[in-house]
Amino acid sequence: MKQGLTSPMRYLMDDVPEGGKTVTVAPGVKWLRMPLPLPLALDHINLYLLANGDGWMVVDCGMKGGITRQLWQQVFETELEGKPINAVLSTHMHPDHIGQAGWLVGHWNVPFYMTASEYFTARAYTAPAQDIPEEWQHDTYAVRTGMPREYVEKMRKGTAGFGSIVEPLPRSFKRLQDGRILTLGDQRWQVIIGRGHSPEHACLYNAALNILISGDQVLPQITSNVSVTSTEPDANPLQEWMQSLQRMLELPDDALVCPAHNAPFFGLHTRLRELLAHHEQQLAGLEIELVAPKTAYELLPALFHRELHNEQLMMAMGECLAHLHLLLSRGAVIQSLGADGVQRYQALAVSPSSGDVQHE
Ligand SMILES: [Zn+2]
Repeated sequence: MKQGLTSPMRYLMDDVPEGGKTVTVAPGVKWLRMPLPLPLALDHINLYLLANGDGWMVVDCGMKGGITRQLWQQVFETELEGKPINAVLSTHMHPDHIGQAGWLVGHWNVPFYMTASEYFTARAYTAPAQDIPEEWQHDTYAVRTGMPREYVEKMRKGTAGFGSIVEPLPRSFKRLQDGRILTLGDQRWQVIIGRGHSPEHACLYNAALNILISGDQVLPQITSNVSVTSTEPDANPLQEWMQSLQRMLELPDDALVCPAHNAPFFGLHTRLRELLAHHEQQLAGLEIELVAPKTAYELLPALFHRELHNEQLMMAMGECLAHLHLLLSRGAVIQSLGADGVQRYQALAVSPSSGDVQHE
């Protein structure tokens, strides 16, 4: 489809649902919101209820803590039209999406749907921490970025916070797979997998209703975090992310997109192209900076035009590495490890197509 033919972005409606209430966005599709009980840039998550025969499937669950459970009780009492919850699905493993999954599944005694990579990653993150022997600790990821020592120390402490915002997960799950059809009553939802933001993020597309439940894969206002983490320090998640966005351009431009943050909107192709252009712009900005060798830490101001501290800095670092790894895989940049244990990056003077390129 030509760019000129894509429709501009517009929200389905101006209102957002009040806490404990739902708004119907299409036949058999209800939208609700839950607060996020953390000082994050975002203060809410959108959840959806999909008609599923004689009940409802919950899509995404809200975080553990705060008043989320209380609001769910309110939804059960007033919003379900006298029908039960008969299934729970999480698009991916982030705490705002899976935090209450265990509780919802236990409360209703219903099956839990997720992709395998998301389920097992979440199980690993919520498992009791093991004491890893000192000599097995690898802090090369953090040292290589050139971050100040205090942040390197923080990173060594790992992801201990995850379990505090996620209820114990259901002990079994039903696997979602790319391209498979999930039949809910008389509605057919196709599973579409996206990668880069999380390992195997499930979106759901209903062709008859022309609705995409997009999770964090397509958001109307903010860009989803795409990070290299210390668990897989050589990953190239931005490549996977951009490939996933490209693939979503195959869906109809006029689909109603129901995202996990902000509000349902039209203008899928416009938004996908904006997101792709945003990352290309960030990549070009980095290449300009890299006429001289720089560390990932030194490159942060080129990508983020604000002061960064603590978690923000960690996420920004992960994003910066994601962009650098894509440039490395394109052959636009080389890296070298200094005697100080810090990685430095530099743009290649020759165009990648014109000669030898050095890959990681
Ligand atoms: Zn997420």
